Amino acid sequence: MPSRATTTEDRLRQKLGAGLLTQEPLRHHTTMRIGGPADFYFAARTADQLVIALRAAHELGVPLFLLGGGSNLLVSDEGFRGLVVRNAIETVEFDGTAAQVGCGADFLELIYKCRDRELAGLEFAAGIPGTIGGALYGNAGCYGQDIGQVTIESTIASYDGATVVTRKAEWFEFAYRDSRLKREPWVLLSCLLQFRKGDRAALTAVIEEKLEIRRVKHPQWRVEPTAGSYFKNLPPGFQAAGLPLSPGTHRVPAGALLDAVGCRGLRVGDALVFPKHANIIVNAGRATARDVLELAEIMKSRVREKFGVELEEEVMFLGEKPRIEAAGR
Ligand SMILES: Cc1cc2nc3c(=O)[nH]c(=O)nc-3n(C[C@H](O)[C@H](O)[C@H](O)COP(=O)(O)OP(=O)(O)OC[C@H]3O[C@@H](n4cnc5c(N)ncnc54)[C@H](O)[C@@H]3O)c2cc1C
Repeated sequence: MPSRATTTEDRLRQKLGAGLLTQEPLRHHTTMRIGGPADFYFAARTADQLVIALRAAHELGVPLFLLGGGSNLLVSDEGFRGLVVRNAIETVEFDGTAAQVGCGADFLELIYKCRDRELAGLEFAAGIPGTIGGALYGNAGCYGQDIGQVTIESTIASYDGATVVTRKAEWFEFAYRDSRLKREPWVLLSCLLQFRKGDRAALTAVIEEKLEIRRVKHPQWRVEPTAGSYFKNLPPGFQAAGLPLSPGTHRVPAGALLDAVGCRGLRVGDALVFPKHANIIVNAGRATARDVLELAEIMKSRVREKFGVELEEEVMFLGEKPRIEAAGR
């Protein structure tokens, strides 16, 4: 019989210390407030801690998931069999008009810090939740602008923790809601962002305007849990008569197609299409991941039937996906 010291938990604890949590409910770490337990959970506050966690998972053969703010994530009701490492490296060091930013820093907090130093460049994104690492991973943005545009370089670690390198922005192949990291697994530790001189009053006005637009049009995720837009806007070549193009990206918004097929207010269990925005699913109570997946399948099938196009999920799924029957509603 193996001695106690040989269990995975004990071996992880030897490397990660008291910060290692077990059976941690992931619904506490996602803005959708959905998700079963992670076998193991660890919040890394420094790059060293994060690399140690990567190495530990690799050496012990434990599956690993890198978590930011959990704002673009739907987690399985069964949770995750492995180690979830939260990037909690929140340091921000300004140097003139540039800043070295830990990838666990909160996006909106950084925007406020820039405003306080009269630095412009990210204010358009006020209201996008999550961390800077999560934003870089999916090249988060809106109104035709994205975080990739202010990025000079980023320091990344390989998933086994063996390599830490700094790469220039070009290497990341930032594109619409996309980066190279979606194809090659690397962990973002920190990044160097370049801003330009701005005016505090003007920056404050833009930030307030963007937050107000979101307050009016979008759910407030702290009280109406959501992961934001569920589907990506359509590829640039796609056109449909009478449908508007999204400002900035010149793509047909997924919300326009979903509106055209009457998705607002659709509901499966406690998963609800937000009545004011057809591309946003909210957790209206005790929604499960299965509720959300079933609802999303109905939305996709309606769009497929009317427009002959397949919507692609923007929200990522973590864990084992349950089988969802083809929707007929
Ligand atoms: C109300 C609301 C509004 C939103 N509006 C927008 C919007 O306007 N534009 C937009 O683009 N998005 C929007 N989103 C989606 C989401 O906020 C962004 O995609 C955000 O950048 C995700 O960051 P995160 O830290 O929460 O990532 P998470 O959800 O934690 O993770 C997302 C993915 O990134 C990976 N990841 C996270 N951190 C790292 C890291 N350090 N290294 C490597 N991989 C990492 C994860 O493994 C995962 O695959 C919105 C979400 C909500 C809830």
